[in-house]
Amino acid sequence: MKKNNLLDEFYTLVQVDDPDGRYAQDINDSNYFGMPLEAIVKAEKRLRSGKERCIAYFSMEYGLATSCYNLLSSTLALNPANKVPENAVFSNFRVADYFFALHQNNIIDLPIYSGGLGVLAGDTVKTMADYNLPVAAIGILWSSGYFRQKFWFKYGQAPEKMHWDPDTYPGLIPLKNRIKVSLKSEDVYLKLWKYYVYSYKQDAVVPLILLDANIEPNSETARIFTDQLYRSDNVFLKLLQRVILGFGGVSALNELGYQIDTYHLNEGHAVFAFIAKARGMGKDELESLKSKFVYTCHTPVEAGHDRFAIDDLNRVLKKEDADTIEKFGKEHPGVANLTLLSMNISSAINAVSHNHQKVMHIQFPDYRERIQYVTNGVHPYTWLSRSFQELFAQFPQVFCDIGANPMILSRAPELKGNADFRTRLWQAHQSNKLELCKFLEKWQLDKNLFTICWARRVAAYKRPSLILHDISRLVKITKTCGPLQIILAGKAHPNDNLGFTYINEMLDKVDRLNEDYGKLKIIVLENYDISLGKLLTSSVDVWLNNPLPPFEASGTSGMKAILNGVLQMSTVDGWVAEATEQKIGSFFGYKNSEGSVGNESDLHMNDDAEELYNTLERMVDLYYRTNSGGKLDTASGWIDMMIECIAAAAQFNTYRMVDQYKQQIWKIT
Ligand SMILES: *Cc1c(COP(=O)(O)O)cnc(C)c1O
Repeated sequence: MKKNNLLDEFYTLVQVDDPDGRYAQDINDSNYFGMPLEAIVKAEKRLRSGKERCIAYFSMEYGLATSCYNLLSSTLALNPANKVPENAVFSNFRVADYFFALHQNNIIDLPIYSGGLGVLAGDTVKTMADYNLPVAAIGILWSSGYFRQKFWFKYGQAPEKMHWDPDTYPGLIPLKNRIKVSLKSEDVYLKLWKYYVYSYKQDAVVPLILLDANIEPNSETARIFTDQLYRSDNVFLKLLQRVILGFGGVSALNELGYQIDTYHLNEGHAVFAFIAKARGMGKDELESLKSKFVYTCHTPVEAGHDRFAIDDLNRVLKKEDADTIEKFGKEHPGVANLTLLSMNISSAINAVSHNHQKVMHIQFPDYRERIQYVTNGVHPYTWLSRSFQELFAQFPQVFCDIGANPMILSRAPELKGNADFRTRLWQAHQSNKLELCKFLEKWQLDKNLFTICWARRVAAYKRPSLILHDISRLVKITKTCGPLQIILAGKAHPNDNLGFTYINEMLDKVDRLNEDYGKLKIIVLENYDISLGKLLTSSVDVWLNNPLPPFEASGTSGMKAILNGVLQMSTVDGWVAEATEQKIGSFFGYKNSEGSVGNESDLHMNDDAEELYNTLERMVDLYYRTNSGGKLDTASGWIDMMIECIAAAAQFNTYRMVDQYKQQIWKIT
């Protein structure tokens, strides 16, 4: 009896649009796509009750790792459109590339992210669910995802449209609710979707509301506003994506009856939420509205700060809205800057690492006093490999109850003197590495050879090709220190010509090393995504991170790596600048002088490549003294560093991060 009530309550609270009963097959009196239904009913009631301070978390993208963490299940067979596509490999073992591709046969991650910002938003929302916070997350249902990366032989990256099917993605449900966003010359209707992000213990959820303009009453033009994440081929599309997120997000929260106290804006992308709330308000009301907004800036890079001509705003938006944007966001006559707008309308502003805070202080001196920092983190249960979970479970006296408290990882150094732990740690790593070798079986990787990986978004400041800068030096290292296996992956934004050039250069250089495959294996993986990210960050020996300081606001992939005992080889930037005291690897390269930001296009390639190679030599040398053809020196300093990595992960995770947001930014206890 009671259980039936729960299902009724669910359908009252959540207006599932399900004319043919498809979703009903996966929702019953206790289950929601294999997860407890009760958590949803509790969360939906809480957000409407007005009894607690609720947060609306806005982000353009979410990388939830739905394929590898808290996977929701459906009774329907997996739609082939939602399977990971077959991906090519480009290596200096061209024979294999020619004959083989990578087949994964699993479900794609919900394809509504492009990179680090999305993964961070996903990891944050998962942690909010773990903490049982009253939060609604707002995003967009990108009907064509970001894009699919294809390599053209020696030529570079060919971006293709990505196809997936939201209607059959397990756990993603359409709602009957429609909302309207009013522009100057037309109304755009949005359909709402929901995806419930479950906590680790599966007893709480954060609802993620996704906005979708690809519906019937909309014009052909309006329907593509939500097709591809970060379209920038046209200024109006770029503007309208932000308008949909901000205006649409506020309307959606109203439509659902959520009582929101704090609006958290990630990047300036979401700042039009304030403009929507500000309609019709006088001076005092506007002041109190500001106290409800908080803003996180995620990049010091110029291209990350959106600017729009006031004329363009007036072409698209109603006068009142355009005027409010101009009033709070004018940078120069005729130009609005969404970063300035966000800072002007927020009661709290934060950078995403200590270094990034210093950079923001230089970039925005007028806001100096108000800019705080909260260093990013990663969600441990998403990124911790199975073999490391098992390893920790074997040492409960130290890693007791890691499920409740991942901060316990800081106790890892207590096991430094434990030979059994050192051996098992190595074995856990080798078992992850073996998984990588199997994945790339046709390319004949060897688990006893030094393996290093660079995988992230291809952007100039991240210097994707630094390790390939001087090929003859690289070849020399293989001769003097030992063989190398190098793995590279990353997508360049389709409109980023420079990024395209990097991939082109990478493929071209790799191709010319055809002869050297015995000692130097270089593998470039197509279509970098979360599942590749998880595999790579947990399985290689060294994670390479070589952004040009100080342009990496934080970076998070290295945090995924340390959680799995993978050593860092990195320039000192972003989060890494806070970890240099810990012995988690080797640091090298250019440092910007305190008090200046430097020039984002002066990449210091020659000097930093030289330093990279010197550092690499030492790392490779130590590696082969630690692992000589499968024979392990358990006393090696390499293993000490692996232990230090695990200990550092106690700090660089989203539990520490969300604790800080609660105190410093949202001010909830
Ligand atoms: C973690 C992750 C990123 C972020 O990597 P950075 O180190 O911040 O550059 C980007 N893309 C994917 C798929 C990831 O998993």
